[in-house]
Order: sequence, then structure tokens, then C-alpha cells
Amino acid sequence: MAVLMDGKAVSAAVRGRIRLDCEAFTKKFGRAPGLSVILVGNDPASCVYVRNKKRACEEVGFSSSVYELPGNTTQEELLLLIDRLNRDPAVDGILVQLPLPAHLDEKAVTLAIRPEKDVDAFHPINVGAVCAGEYTFVPCTPAGVMELLAYYGIDPAGKDCVVIGRSNIVGKPQALLLLEKNATVTVCHSRTVGLAEHTRRADILVSAVGKAGFVRADMVKPGAVVIDVGMNRNAEGKLCGDVDFPAVEPLCSYITPVPGGVGPMTITMLLPKTLTAAEKNLANQEKAIDNTY
Ligand code: NAP
Repeated sequence: MAVLMDGKAVSAAVRGRIRLDCEAFTKKFGRAPGLSVILVGNDPASCVYVRNKKRACEEVGFSSSVYELPGNTTQEELLLLIDRLNRDPAVDGILVQLPLPAHLDEKAVTLAIRPEKDVDAFHPINVGAVCAGEYTFVPCTPAGVMELLAYYGIDPAGKDCVVIGRSNIVGKPQALLLLEKNATVTVCHSRTVGLAEHTRRADILVSAVGKAGFVRADMVKPGAVVIDVGMNRNAEGKLCGDVDFPAVEPLCSYITPVPGGVGPMTITMLLPKTLTAAEKNLANQEKAIDNTY
């Protein structure tokens, strides 16, 4: 039987740590770290994510503001709000909940957020920093996977790691973070030939595809660590991952359940990043004051 990697427990541990750090920060600087979240429209999944992010901030003592804009918000209106938040010294992190309604230009919005406040790490400067291994921010989901691996004492160094999926939000940064930890990384995608031959070599297999039942038992090496990033609905409408859990679980050494694995980590990893943004923001403000005198 595999060890279940408990994202809720690891999240609680991270949140406990951040709560203490937040207390110390607030005592030192006279204000809490602040995250601003922008939601455009009322996509049900996005509304749930934003609500959970706000709740996570409140739980550790951060201040958070949610800007709920109507679905017909123009590009100009959205950019104006981002500009205001960019210039507000009390706003440490800015997050625009994606996907945006089709008439809005996601790329332009991503570019508009100041890289120092881009806690989601979608700005090209932050993407480049992750590639160079010199980053402040990294996308939350792959960061959560790395935190889970560390918590369970799984060192990727020297291991064959296979990531299925190459999105900018999950697959690519996941591969880079594993590489940074000295894994030998293979990235697979929809054009990969002989997918199962790759995945069967994986000591650590990360699936970020978005298809229920995609990872079958015959694709998994016995004893592998299986990380299921997928969030799908099965035929009965129940939340499930990419992995055929009942068939794969008996084969592997560690596995993340869905729900309760990677999902809770994604929201939680926003917290350390907001705290880092706040520390850097205040350090920069102090530097600016020093330079004035
Ligand atoms: P995405 O942008 O749609 O990317 C999916 C990836 O899967 C693509 O790279 C695609 O390849 C690849 N793929 C699709 N069919 C494939 C096939 N037959 N064989 C091999 N690769 C295939 O999705 P995403 O944003 O990365 O998210 C992936 C999943 O993770 C979704 O279920 C999403 O809901 C979930 N997710 C969960 C969390 C969480 O907190 N747990 C966070 C983010 C995302 P191509 O590039 O060739 O098209």
C-alpha cells in the first residue's frame, strides 16, 4: 500500500509557520502583508478559488482585498486598477484570477502587474528568473508539489522524473523545479510518442493533463512516487485526478489523492510568496527613503 501524501496536513503545517511569521512581520512593520485579488466575471470555479484564497489570507493574518469586477469590464478599466494597485505601497501582492473573459487580453494583463508584486509568477521576468534558478516567485502548484516532496523526505536528486503536461502554469515550471533539485527530467505532452515507455521509467511521475483515468497502472513503475495534479470530474460528477487511483495506488510507494493532495497546497503556497513580496516591498521602501537623504 502506498503512503498517501496528505496535502491538507502539509498545508496546515505551512500555514502554521506563516501565521507566526506574519505575527512577527506585523509587529515589526505595523501592518500585515497585503494581497489584492482581482476577479472579473462570475465563473463558478474562479469564484471558489478566490474565496478560498481570501480565506487562506485571513487565516494567517494577512490583509486581503478582493476586487470583483463585472464580466463586461474593459481592458482599460482592468489595467487602470492594476496600475493603481501597482503604485499602492500597502499592496504587496497582486493576483488576477485566470481565466479572464474572452474579450480581455490575458498576456497584456500579466505584463501589467509589477514583477515584484506578481506572486503568481506569470510575468515573463519571473518566468525567466525560474528558468535561471534565481527566482523570488514560482507558480503555486509546482511549488506545492515540491513542498509535498520535501515534507515526505523524497529527494528528487538523481531520480528519473517524468512530468506529463507542459503548460506555463504547471508542467514547465514543475520540470524546472525538479531539475533545480538535480532530477533527470523528461517532459511529455500530447505529441509525445510512446508515452507509457517514458512514464514507466519514472521514479517520480507528475501528471498535469486534465483527463480523468489518464494514468493507468501499466504506465507506472512499481515503487514510483505518483503526483496527481489533475482536477477533473468523473462520469458521476465527482472530483478526481488524472490517475486511475484504485489501480495505481497499490503499485506505488507514495501517491497524492484527489481531492486532498496537490489542491490544498496550491492555495497555501500563495501565502509564503505574499510574505516574501511584503518583506521585499518594505525593504525597497526603506532603501528609497535612505536614498532620499
Ligand atoms: P493545460 O494547460 O490544459 O495543459 C495540459 C497538458 O496536458 C498540455 O501540455 C497537453 O499537451 C498535455 N496533454 C493533453 N493530452 C495529452 C495526452 N494525450 N498525452 C500527453 N499529454 C497530454 O492544463 P494545466 O493548466 O496545466 O492543468 C492540468 C490539470 O491540472 C488540469 O486538470 C487542471 O485542472 C489541473 N490543475 C490543478 C491544480 C491544483 O491545484 N491541483 C492547479 C492547476 C491545474 P500539449 O501541450 O501538447 O497540448
